Amino acid sequence: MMMPDEKKASILIVDDSADKRLALASALDGLHEEIVEAASGRDALRLLLNHDYAVILLDVKMPEMDGYETAALIRSRKRSQSTPIIFVTAYARDDINILQGYSLGAVDYVFAPIIPEILRAKVGVFVELYYKTEEIKHYGQQLESLVATRTAALTAEIAERRQAQERLHYLAHHDALTNMPNRVLFVERLKQALSRAQGRHHVVAVLFIDLDRFKLVNDTLGHEAGDRLLRTMSGHLLSCIRDGDVVARFGGDEFAVFLNDVVTPADVPPLAQKFVAALAEPFVLEGTEFFVTCSIGISLFPGDGTDTQTLMKNADTAMYRAKQQGGNNFQFYRADMNSQSRKRLELNNLLRQALQRQEFVLHYQPQFDLHNGTIVGVEALIHWARPGAAVVPPEDFISLLEENGLIVQVGEWVLRTACAQHHAWRNMGYTLRMAMNASGRQFTDGGLVKIVTDIVQENPVKPCMLEIEITENAIMQNMPLAIESLQALGKLGICIAIDDFGTGYSSLGYLKQLPLDILKIDEIFIRDMTTNPDDAAIAKAIISMAHSLDLKVVAEGVETREQVDLLRLQGCDLGQGFYFSKPLPANEIERLLRENYSLNMTMGA
Ligand code: C2E
Ligand code: MG
Ligand code: MG
Repeated sequence: MMMPDEKKASILIVDDSADKRLALASALDGLHEEIVEAASGRDALRLLLNHDYAVILLDVKMPEMDGYETAALIRSRKRSQSTPIIFVTAYARDDINILQGYSLGAVDYVFAPIIPEILRAKVGVFVELYYKTEEIKHYGQQLESLVATRTAALTAEIAERRQAQERLHYLAHHDALTNMPNRVLFVERLKQALSRAQGRHHVVAVLFIDLDRFKLVNDTLGHEAGDRLLRTMSGHLLSCIRDGDVVARFGGDEFAVFLNDVVTPADVPPLAQKFVAALAEPFVLEGTEFFVTCSIGISLFPGDGTDTQTLMKNADTAMYRAKQQGGNNFQFYRADMNSQSRKRLELNNLLRQALQRQEFVLHYQPQFDLHNGTIVGVEALIHWARPGAAVVPPEDFISLLEENGLIVQVGEWVLRTACAQHHAWRNMGYTLRMAMNASGRQFTDGGLVKIVTDIVQENPVKPCMLEIEITENAIMQNMPLAIESLQALGKLGICIAIDDFGTGYSSLGYLKQLPLDILKIDEIFIRDMTTNPDDAAIAKAIISMAHSLDLKVVAEGVETREQVDLLRLQGCDLGQGFYFSKPLPANEIERLLRENYSLNMTMGA
C-alpha cells in the first residue's frame, strides 16, 4: 500500500490481483498522477479514511469483500460519498450487474481486456473534474475565510464605533471635571421636568449657583487646586439634592440646579439655604482654610417663565443680584431686576469715564479722641461728583467698582490723593492721621504694598500717620496673602485697622496672627447700644478684647451724646460719626481745624 501525494490528484486502484493493479497503473502512467494501490476492499476503505481520491478503479470480483460491497461502504461514508467509482470487470458484462453497479454509485465501467487509451480518457475526465472541484473548494475556503475575517473586523469596528458614539454622547452631555451633567443635558432634563410639572400644577425652581471667590483660589493656588475645589463643591451640591432634582456644572465656577416637585414657592428658601450653608463650609487647601461662599439666583416655573430659556436667564439675573449683595446669599428673581441690571450697566460705563474725567473726590470724616474731644485723624471716603447730579456716596458705587475691577485703579488714586492731602495739611501745620480704605482686590490684583511703599518713599510723610483700613471679609478672601501684605505694610510703619469689625467672620483667633493697630467697631453695634443691653455688652467685650491685644478702638457711626458717654465709660479710644461730623470736603475740614473745633468731653455735658 502506497501513501498518497498531497499535491497531485490521486487515483486509487483496488484489485486483489497484483498483476491487474500493475496493468492498470501502467495504463494510467501517461496521466502523470499519483497512483495508489489497494489489494482489498478493506485496504481501500482504510486509505479512504484520510485521503480524497479523484477517482477509484474498483475491481468487482474480489475475495472477502467484493467490489459492490466495497462501493456501498465507500458511498456510506461522508468523506467519500461522491468520489467517482469506475468498476473494472471482465465478468459482469450482463445488464443486471451493470445496473447494480450504477445503483451503488458507479459512474462508469471499464471492461477487460483494458484498452489503455479508453481507460486514460475515462479516468482523465475525473482527474480534471477533481482538479476543478479542488479549485472551487479552495476558492470557496478562501472566500469563506475572507468573509469571516471581514465580518470579525466589521463587528469589532461597529462595537468600537458604538463605544465611541456612547463616549461622545456622554462627553457632549457631561462636564469632564466633575462628571456632572452639563448645560445641554440640564436643559434637556429641565424641559422634561417642565412638561411634567405643567400637568400636575407643580412648581419647578431653577437655581443658578456661582462661587464667590473662586478666581482667587485659582489665581493664588493654581488651577489644580481650583479643580479640586470645584470637585469638592460639586460633591457638596450633590449631597443637598433630592431624587429627581438635577445639578449641573455649566463651566468655570457656575453650577445650576433645578428642584422638581416643589409644591409651593415657600418650599424653596429652606432648600436654597441648604445649598448656601453646604458651600460655605471651610475648604482646606495646602493647610489653609478657604471660605468659598456662593451666590444663588432663583427663578420659578411657571411664575417667572414657562420655558427653559426664560427661566435660566431670570435665574442668572437673580444670581447677579445675589453677587451684588456681597455674595453668600440667595435671591429670587423679580421682574424689576432686569431694569435694575440695565441701570447698573449704565452706571458701570459712567464710572469708567468718571476716573478719566476726574469726577472722583475725597471727603474726610474726622475721628475724635473720646478722652479730650479733639480731632486726631480723618478717614478718606471717596465720593463721585457726578456732573449735573448730587454727590454720590461710596456705598452706591464701591461694590460696582469691586465687581468690574476698577477699584484697583481708583484705589491707587485714593491712596495718592489722600497722602497728598495729608502732606498739604502738614504744611499748613495740622498733624492728622489719614485713614484710607483698601479693598481685597487691591491686595490680590493691585500691588497695594508696592504702591504704598512708593508713596512713602516719594513723599515726605511719616508712615505712622497713615492708616490702611481693611475689612474682615477682605482678609478672609485670601488669608495667606493678607497676612503677608499686612506684615509688609506694618514693617513700613503704616498703621493697620480692621474695619467694620463684627460684621464678618468675627473669628477672634485670627486677629492674633495679624499685625494690627486699630479695631473699628461696626456701627450696627453702636446704633442701639444705649437701648439694647446685648449690643452694649458686645461693644464692651470688643473693646476689652482689643485692649488686651494692644489695639486702639474706634467706634463707627456714633450719632448721639449718649453713645459717646457709654463708649467713654467702656474705655473706647476714638469715635467717628454724624454726632461729631459728616464726611466733609477738604476745605471744610480745614475750617474745623482753623476753628480748633473740639467737643466738650465732660460726661453727660
Ligand atoms: P466705612 O469705611 O465703614 O466708612 C464709614 C461709613 O459710615 C461711611 O459711609 C460714612 O459716611 C458712614 N458713616 C459715618 N458716620 C456715620 C453715622 O454716624 N451713622 C451712619 N449710619 N453712617 C455713618 P460711606 O461714605 O457711604 O462709605 C461706605 C463704605 O464705602 C465705607 O465704609 C468703605 O468701606 C467704602 N469706601 C469708602 N471710600 C472708599 C475707598 O476709597 N476705597 C475703598 N476700597 N472703599 C471705600
Ligand atoms: Mg472705613
Ligand atoms: Mg466701617
